[in-house]
Amino acid sequence: MTKGKYANIIIDISHEKVDRPFQYKIPEEMQGRLEAGMCVQIPFGTGSRLRQGYVVEVTDRPQFPDEKQKFVAAIVADSVSVKSDAIKLAAWMKEAYGSTMIAALKTVLPVKQTVRHKEKKKITRLLTKEETCSLLGECLRKHQTARARVLQELCEEAELPYELVTGKLNVSVAVLKNLQEQGVISIESESYYRNPVKLEAAREKGRELSREQSLIRDSVLADYDGGKRTVYFVHGITGSGKTEVYLSLIEGMIKRGKQCIVLIPEIALTYQTLLRFYKRFGDRVSVMNSTLSAGEKYDQWQRAQKGEIDVIIGPRSALFVPFPNLGLIVMDEEHESSYKSETMPRYHARETAEYLAGLKNASLVLGSATPSLEAYYRAVEGKYKLFTLDRRLTGGALASVSIVDLRQELREGNRSIFSRKLQELMEERMGRKEQIMLFLNRRGYAGFVSCRSCGYVMKCPHCDVSLSQHLGGRLVCHYCGYEMPLPKKCPSCGSPYILGFKAGTQQIEEQLHKRFPGMRTLRMDGDTTRTRDSYEKILTAFAEGEADVLVGTQMIVKGHDFPNVTLVGVLAADLSLNDSDYRSGERTFQLLTQAAGRAGRGTRPGEVVIQTYRPEHYSIIHAAAQDYRAFYEEEILYRKIGAYPPAAHMMAVLVTALDEGKGQELSAKIAEVAKEMEKAGTQERKAVVIGPARAAIGKINDIYRFVIYCKAFHYRQLTEIKDKIEQYVFPLGLREENVQFDFNP
Ligand code: ADP
Ligand code: ZN
Ligand code: ZN
Repeated sequence: MTKGKYANIIIDISHEKVDRPFQYKIPEEMQGRLEAGMCVQIPFGTGSRLRQGYVVEVTDRPQFPDEKQKFVAAIVADSVSVKSDAIKLAAWMKEAYGSTMIAALKTVLPVKQTVRHKEKKKITRLLTKEETCSLLGECLRKHQTARARVLQELCEEAELPYELVTGKLNVSVAVLKNLQEQGVISIESESYYRNPVKLEAAREKGRELSREQSLIRDSVLADYDGGKRTVYFVHGITGSGKTEVYLSLIEGMIKRGKQCIVLIPEIALTYQTLLRFYKRFGDRVSVMNSTLSAGEKYDQWQRAQKGEIDVIIGPRSALFVPFPNLGLIVMDEEHESSYKSETMPRYHARETAEYLAGLKNASLVLGSATPSLEAYYRAVEGKYKLFTLDRRLTGGALASVSIVDLRQELREGNRSIFSRKLQELMEERMGRKEQIMLFLNRRGYAGFVSCRSCGYVMKCPHCDVSLSQHLGGRLVCHYCGYEMPLPKKCPSCGSPYILGFKAGTQQIEEQLHKRFPGMRTLRMDGDTTRTRDSYEKILTAFAEGEADVLVGTQMIVKGHDFPNVTLVGVLAADLSLNDSDYRSGERTFQLLTQAAGRAGRGTRPGEVVIQTYRPEHYSIIHAAAQDYRAFYEEEILYRKIGAYPPAAHMMAVLVTALDEGKGQELSAKIAEVAKEMEKAGTQERKAVVIGPARAAIGKINDIYRFVIYCKAFHYRQLTEIKDKIEQYVFPLGLREENVQFDFNP
């Protein structure tokens, strides 16, 4: 139990100025009960209004003379008592990524305790359609109008949302209870993500592991039992048995009375994957994802804390589920960019998992088919223990990949967006009734509109990005949603030749219909998948053979198996090479490798055609050869020469401002502060400060954006610069400007 008479407390306001603990006296009756992480009420400010705060520390050392300090007023009942681990984790995140303590705490704590757990319920009829209709007739005769309203709907639909019935149909709970008791309907909660085991997944034992797989399991568990903790990396292509290894490791941990966190990017968190975990571990597994309400997430939190579950699966936020005895963290698809938070603190799940594993004395297993440069670099340096799985256990051979030079195609008179080779292979697939995926690895680029006479590009008046042409000719900004009709004349030179660049996913679909009349297509991009539901719908339709071709952006290359797909076409592989950041080569390699992995997942061999204007680029060559190691060797050289992560560390300071001049001024001042640190650098290798400059997107929603880059060989140098900048910025009390830090952007 924590002893002490004073509590350091952070007030629950998300503002930099209050980002420091205030000290309060602990009333006698609370002494010994109050501990770090508790939520309390304290008098604050001039009127001593009661506010909520978190206890960060309980101490014996007074900060001020005793008589000047106020007392803690009350412990907030029912508040989640965050263990000091969570507070420590928050403190670490604040330091490593730059954020307020409050923002860091809010990241690691469950959302507001007051949110009630809301269940999504549904009503299912237990009678046949005919029986329901005849019962309806009976109710109508007896003037049982409320019953009739439900039954009417149930004649049409076998299932109804509970809210619809109690709300719109105005049927009382008593009537529903009655129907339920009579066996007409059943009422169930619908959150299968929370408890998919309801779908009667029969429990399954694991497969017998291959020699390579057992080696991984045995080494990790032997290390664990021997008290050795380290980070393991499982490098293995899709289908090489990584998930099976995770499952057996988790099994081993459960036997040891430990719990596990499994991180899987949301996009890869498919129903099949979940089912595998449920079949293995039953209702000791639970899932966290973004479709859960705050209340449901909070509920998961409590179940974990109470020891009701052993395994949580989810995206990066699943890291913060508070297990009492964490033994293992698994992070699948470790390279995924969604593992980095986009809001402050901009933490990376891999680094955070490493810290958390240390804190909880747990092991960490990372896995990927295309490791991030950061992780592989550490593996090569010997900081992570590397395992490789290089056989596909499903038997399917790797697809054969060919590269087509689009410049050559043009020279030989082919002006279509499909190379002759791709057209030929598509024709073949059509004849054999096999499926095709066409993939455009970037969205914003496609569909931009420019003047063929003067080169003027139509841009959003609020953001520094080009507008994209959509069906019906409207121009749309993908950042802020601004829309305008396509002008008839160029606003700059008046020429009528202002046209869209015809290579968006929509245009590809149109071209397909022209070239292959009767071809059935489905399209998947940001426009067709506004909701998670529509995303699943399209994939299911394609899996069920409702289309010959699926055209899409990078979202089609992740997750999901389509055994009938035997041809994958990448239409312009270099599109993603044109991004102006140091990760573009890595991203391109990953996308192409994943795309190639989509072909030939069934029994028939697959083919992949990569069309490109830059066939000589190493990302493209090595992706085609499916040779990660060769790619890594070239890429790491480039990072070393350019002093980019992971060869060095980088921090971007993003300054946003309503007023352009003020933004310029502030960012110049910040650069100056940073450069002073650069001079004062005591390390053998000094930090370098670049900028300020306009951000790659200089304006979003009428807010100006500037950026300052700092590079250093030690992470510590960057956090020191960050601290200095914070010390300069916080006292300014900025309102119209904002400063954010992004480490290894
Ligand atoms: P990954 O996670 O690397 O994509 P999985 O673990 O999903 O690989 O395995 C791919 C396929 O091979 C799955 O269908 C899985 O059931 C099967 N599999 C995995 N391990 C074995 C094994 N030891 N013996 C037989 N089949 C296996
Ligand atoms: Zn023009
Ligand atoms: Zn815009």
